[in-house]
Amino acid sequence: MTVFLDLIIFVSSILLIVGLRKLSHPKSANNGNVLAAIGVGLGVMLAIFYPLETENNNYLFIVLGIIIGGVIGLISAKKVPMTAMPEMVSLFNGFGGFSAALISLIWLINNNAIGGVSDMSVVLSNLFLGFVAFTGSMVAYGKLSGKLQDRHLQIPYATVVNIILLAVAIAMTIYFAYHGRLTTLELSMFTVLSVIYGITFVAPIGGADMPVVISLLNSLTGITAAISGIMTDNKLMLLGGVLVGSSGIILTMLMCTAMNRTLVGVLFGSFTSSGASSGASGSATEGTIKEISVSDLAVQLAYSDRVAIIPGYGMAVAQAQKITKDVENLLVNKGVELKYTIHPVAGRMPGHMNVLLAEADVSYDKLLDLEEANDFLADTDVAIIVGANDVVNPAAKEDPSSKIYGMPILDLAKTKNVIVLKRSMNPGYAGIENPLFFKPNTKMLFNDAKKSLEGILSELKEL
Ligand code: NDP
Repeated sequence: MTVFLDLIIFVSSILLIVGLRKLSHPKSANNGNVLAAIGVGLGVMLAIFYPLETENNNYLFIVLGIIIGGVIGLISAKKVPMTAMPEMVSLFNGFGGFSAALISLIWLINNNAIGGVSDMSVVLSNLFLGFVAFTGSMVAYGKLSGKLQDRHLQIPYATVVNIILLAVAIAMTIYFAYHGRLTTLELSMFTVLSVIYGITFVAPIGGADMPVVISLLNSLTGITAAISGIMTDNKLMLLGGVLVGSSGIILTMLMCTAMNRTLVGVLFGSFTSSGASSGASGSATEGTIKEISVSDLAVQLAYSDRVAIIPGYGMAVAQAQKITKDVENLLVNKGVELKYTIHPVAGRMPGHMNVLLAEADVSYDKLLDLEEANDFLADTDVAIIVGANDVVNPAAKEDPSSKIYGMPILDLAKTKNVIVLKRSMNPGYAGIENPLFFKPNTKMLFNDAKKSLEGILSELKEL
């Protein structure tokens, strides 16, 4: 049996590592996903067989857990619309942290006073991080789904409160670890503190900083899974946790670089203290709104040399990726050079736009990242913004009083014609007005993005 279990661990580890490696390129990502899923599936089998080895098995609970969790996972995966995927990922991430915290709680209840200083400090840290990942992810879920507005979550002196809570948690961990045991009351107080810190830690962060905090929470869950793997002597959980934790940290640092922020800056002094719903930027916007008709836009596109498409969250809402690809095909057939310019935080999760466009079979070499995109946009005849807003907001460059000031944007100052496909003058996620819509080179096409693109496509076919 032991040889069999070791073999499963070995094969799963290889599948997880190769799967993760393949996720780094869109062409191999599908295969990578399947390989990693098989690796995780084998890990679940391990969870079934492993307790048989240890004699201390609760076979019924394990099977029930797998059935209940599997059914909930299957139903939610089938029911959830693509636009709700980011909040679902946050929710699942939170449950990962919750599981790790529960493992620590059970360890403390069973082994209280047996563990040495190092055991105790590791388990208490895991309990703390697990609950922080859990409640932090629940707050992130609420913010992403729009159920929680930042005004619901305003904490006076949030940074000071958070530093005090963290210091208390560290002091308690050291004290309990040296004492070697906790009373039920002390364990309850530590648990409540961890739960509260997860909320106060994520509550003040919002707007343009949310992508960073989401990848940080993912990474925290990975770290807690790795520690739980050590505690339960489950090598596969350790490996999976290390992979998630380290890739999460790498992603967090990449997001910080992309947003021109430091991690400390995000955690202790956000873009956003006033939140995603304030509705106004620092200075009054000058200029007028001009509209364009579908037929005029189609003519303009057909006679352009270079066209850029700028996808944003609204493309996901409208599910406009396939029709965008159809428009691309027609324009390229007419000899137009067309590129998609992708901002690293467009949409609601890292890589959101890449996933949407890959789903529509857009070729990877047509995608430009921020730096290449800005070179392309400086010499483009028409840029069509498909449901993007914050990522093209020039206030980030021009208005020091704006709460997104300093965030790198897709720069449309030199683009000859900018066309914005959206439904209204509503703001984007950061909740601020966009002066781009009032610039002399910008025209608006108000409608659902998919409907506008369908109109453009049929007009183009006539030309
Ligand atoms: P925004 O949220 O700034 O704007 C989206 C725009 O899409 C809205 O202004 C909306 O306007 C429009 N829209 C919505 N539905 C439709 C539709 N059916 N048809 C046409 N337009 C539509 O999106 P961006 O992608 O520009 O920016 C992403 C924002 O999300 C950033 O602030 C980023 O920090 C944040 N964020 C990103 C995360 C990530 O990991 N990528 C995670 C968490 C937050 P209207 O209602 O008028 O149509």
